[in-house]
Amino acid sequence: MASMSMAEDVLMNEVLIRDLEAVAKDTAVLHGVLMRTKETPNSSEVVCFAPFSLFPSPLPKVLFDQALAVQTNFNRLVDMISQDSTFLQEALASTIKVDDFTARLFNIYMLILQEGCSQPIVVGLNRSDYMLNQEADGNATLKQIEINTIAAGCGGLSSRTPAVHRHILKVAGRLEEQKMILDNNPAAGLAKALALAWKLYGSERNILVVRKRFEDVCKTGLLDQDKRLFVGGQEVAIVYFRNGYMPQNYREQSWEARLMMERSLAVKCPDIATHLAGTKKVQQELARPGVLEKFFPDDPEAVAQMRATFAGLYTLDEGEEGDKTVAMALANPDQYVLKPQREGGGNNIYGADICQVLLGEKGSSDRAAYILMEKVHPQPVYNYLLRSGYPLKLSTCLSELGIFGAYVRQGTNMLLNECVGHLLRTKSSEYSDGGVTAGVAVLDNPILI
Ligand code: ADP
Ligand code: MG
Repeated sequence: MASMSMAEDVLMNEVLIRDLEAVAKDTAVLHGVLMRTKETPNSSEVVCFAPFSLFPSPLPKVLFDQALAVQTNFNRLVDMISQDSTFLQEALASTIKVDDFTARLFNIYMLILQEGCSQPIVVGLNRSDYMLNQEADGNATLKQIEINTIAAGCGGLSSRTPAVHRHILKVAGRLEEQKMILDNNPAAGLAKALALAWKLYGSERNILVVRKRFEDVCKTGLLDQDKRLFVGGQEVAIVYFRNGYMPQNYREQSWEARLMMERSLAVKCPDIATHLAGTKKVQQELARPGVLEKFFPDDPEAVAQMRATFAGLYTLDEGEEGDKTVAMALANPDQYVLKPQREGGGNNIYGADICQVLLGEKGSSDRAAYILMEKVHPQPVYNYLLRSGYPLKLSTCLSELGIFGAYVRQGTNMLLNECVGHLLRTKSSEYSDGGVTAGVAVLDNPILI
């Protein structure tokens, strides 16, 4: 495997690795592969290179192609779920009884449903994440971890990392591998969808992007009599949520701001229904036999293509089926991941902790707040991970492939439905959870093998 041998090849050559480390960080900074720091999260004066791997990682081409090919169907699926109020209400009925955050989102959803949605234009920007499961026969299979329908990140950074790896490989004299680094520009595809939605909204000026906090929207936002949204005196065509996917993002006032934006004529990315379509509970309900078929009655190929990527997903709702799930998890906790309805990394529960939660030993025993998922076991590969504040060392790593999807619908017309790029994130196998922003995973690039 190309990059495995790359990391191993240079293992004995400390001097080369130190040289490459310096070159790599410098190149990342030059190419804008940057992040704000934990210490000063709102400063534009103190930034650091975003964490990334020294070398690209190997990925089977067939599985990469499979993930790209299924994306437009996942786009359609997410969009259909967002329009199916019966499905959403049924899927989330037990969750909202015990999970306050999902319940608050759901309340907004129900209000909008009753009032009638004011905006027929929908723009969806999502990222479907996968890990590769090492099967007993030695082959790997593509397994979906989740679909992110709100604030799916790293589209910008992953557009810039190919240039960084190309330069590192050039300096390392690995020209063969250098040629294998794929072009990638999700930022362009995501922007294209936003621009189309903006055009459909009927704005007359040039596109102006402003960043606002929920509290700014609260203070200076209003709806006019036609429900047009104004913030700080400017009409808003599209609300792109970079935030709002975890309870900590909301103060009481923020909920009012969210509701105002949902009610407005502005195009929401995502709207509240699409946000809910990305919950883990919905993912688990989709894995039930017959559910995909209901959404795609005339397209068995699409159904098969999507289902092929599903790992085992099990309900923990009260009742016989949920009891069975509990028994299964308690018998083999290392084979599963227990997931609450949260986003952003670091929330999942593994191993013995699963038993503690399910046996009610760890605070709340409201098991319906969680779903159980089969644990995916990828083949580890060696790499060096560059993270600020951590010394460089050869690590055993696991990768997660994300595929970006973008779509725009107006009423019943799907005007754009595309797969717009990829993201490879790699983390040391000692961590079971956590993304790039959480400080665990690093940006990477695939080398297709
Ligand atoms: P979040 O919304 O917090 O990103 P995820 O479902 O993506 O939730 O889980 C977070 C991380 O936990 C993933 O990036 C992955 O590293 C790990 N993980 C999640 N599900 C599984 C699974 N079924 N098998 C193995 N690891 C998993
Ligand atoms: Mg995730």
